Amino acid sequence: MKLVMKFGGSSVGDGDRIKRVAKIVHEQVNQGDKVAIIASALVGVTDDLLKASDEAKRGNIEYIHDFIHQTKKRHVDAVSKAIKNQLLKEEVMSFVKNTIEELEKVFTGIAYLGELTPKSLDYVLSFGERLSTPILCYSLRDIGLEADHFSGKDVGIVTDANYGEARPLMSLTKYQVRQRLEPMLDKGAIPVVTGYIAVTQEGFITTLGRGGSDYSATIIGASLGVDEVWIWTDVDGMMTTDPKIVPSAKTIPELSFQEAIEMAVFGAKGLHPRALEPAMEEGIPVRIRNTFNPTNLGTLIVNKQKIKAGEVVKAVSLIKSVSLINVSGAGMVGAPGTAAKVFEVLGRNNVNVLMISQSASEANISFIIKRNQLGKAISALEIAMLGQGIVREITSEERASIVAIVGAGMKGTPGVATRVFGAVAKKGINIVMISQGSSEVNISFAVREEDGEDAVRAIHEEFGLDG
Ligand code: ADP
Ligand code: ASP
Ligand code: MG
Repeated sequence: MKLVMKFGGSSVGDGDRIKRVAKIVHEQVNQGDKVAIIASALVGVTDDLLKASDEAKRGNIEYIHDFIHQTKKRHVDAVSKAIKNQLLKEEVMSFVKNTIEELEKVFTGIAYLGELTPKSLDYVLSFGERLSTPILCYSLRDIGLEADHFSGKDVGIVTDANYGEARPLMSLTKYQVRQRLEPMLDKGAIPVVTGYIAVTQEGFITTLGRGGSDYSATIIGASLGVDEVWIWTDVDGMMTTDPKIVPSAKTIPELSFQEAIEMAVFGAKGLHPRALEPAMEEGIPVRIRNTFNPTNLGTLIVNKQKIKAGEVVKAVSLIKSVSLINVSGAGMVGAPGTAAKVFEVLGRNNVNVLMISQSASEANISFIIKRNQLGKAISALEIAMLGQGIVREITSEERASIVAIVGAGMKGTPGVATRVFGAVAKKGINIVMISQGSSEVNISFAVREEDGEDAVRAIHEEFGLDG
């Protein structure tokens, strides 16, 4: 088999875990499989880089000093634990130290300029994966495998210049990835590629959005025409809900791409929202597996939709850190083009809309966006829409969450919505917005943030998802 295996941040959290990953790869190679590896940053490193960027922008040199010290220590410790051979250890140690020196220079520059653009932020965020992949690569060499490490830029994943959420230019990417990686696979060597990172056509580093290593995995899998893409994480697969909210949540053995995409888009943090697109287009099955329980076969995501008799709801997801905006005004009634204008303004400002609803009276439109885009969205809408006699008011609820219920069996099954909203009402939770996609595979609603987890628990119980 030809495989892409992607290991998430928790799977490569420290030196011992990296060794565990190397063992999993070794076993797969021993079975005669050709494998390409994609790795995330050590768990938490991307969050830490984000925080440090903010401190650097404020000129907090002391924080940067400490941060560089801690980051170096963490990666040096990982090298010491993951690699036995002295020569290999020294080689990768010097690579890691040089990379961290470069990072320190970048932060110093940001601190002096007091400026952090989306482009420079992507450059900073790329360091997490640039530090983790060489360590994994050398730990493979340490156990006798032939491996080399690359960045997404090196292997030719090319994107648009939408920094922070870049989209791959697939034709060029596929060609370049194939050219650069296929000869290695053919001779049985293992490429270890950074997740999350790509490059514009002009040669500037971009990132594919948070959790983007999953996306890198399927982009590379589609480029190489692999048999399966395996995404290794810290739970047994896609589950009926986040086990951190409902500990008795169950692993779902098989999902269709459509169901899995609805779950991912709606916050099952287990997968990057667009990660399944390249695999679905090529009909490549994706399997979610647990690094800490490798005998479990996890969740298989395939094209075919199977619906078991009586099965209505498969999973319930919670998406946090979102905000609700409400645009209203009596002048909107019967005024054609108001909704188009609202979404055109948001689109122009790169604000991604997660959920929309309009009241039948047409006097208001509500929608949900990511919380970190709230300020930008409100000011753009106020400038474009207020004072023209149509929109009277733009209000927002900053702290909201979306609850999404997914299952192909809901299609055409009457009474699902009644059960959903009945279960939530019984807990005294107020619903601030409702939406059902025309696919009927998904019902979503928004609640205040503090009610999100309780709403998920109520629905999980109502549909007996743990039993
Ligand atoms: P990785 O570091 O492997 O990329 P992530 O943290 O991105 O891992 O995703 C895995 C986590 O996603 C799990 O630990 C789990 O808490 C969370 N999660 C949320 N919803 C789900 C779900 N429905 N099924 C599985 N995991 C989920
Ligand atoms: N390290 C990146 C993040 O934390 C990408 C990933 O882990 O998938 O978002
Ligand atoms: Mg992830």
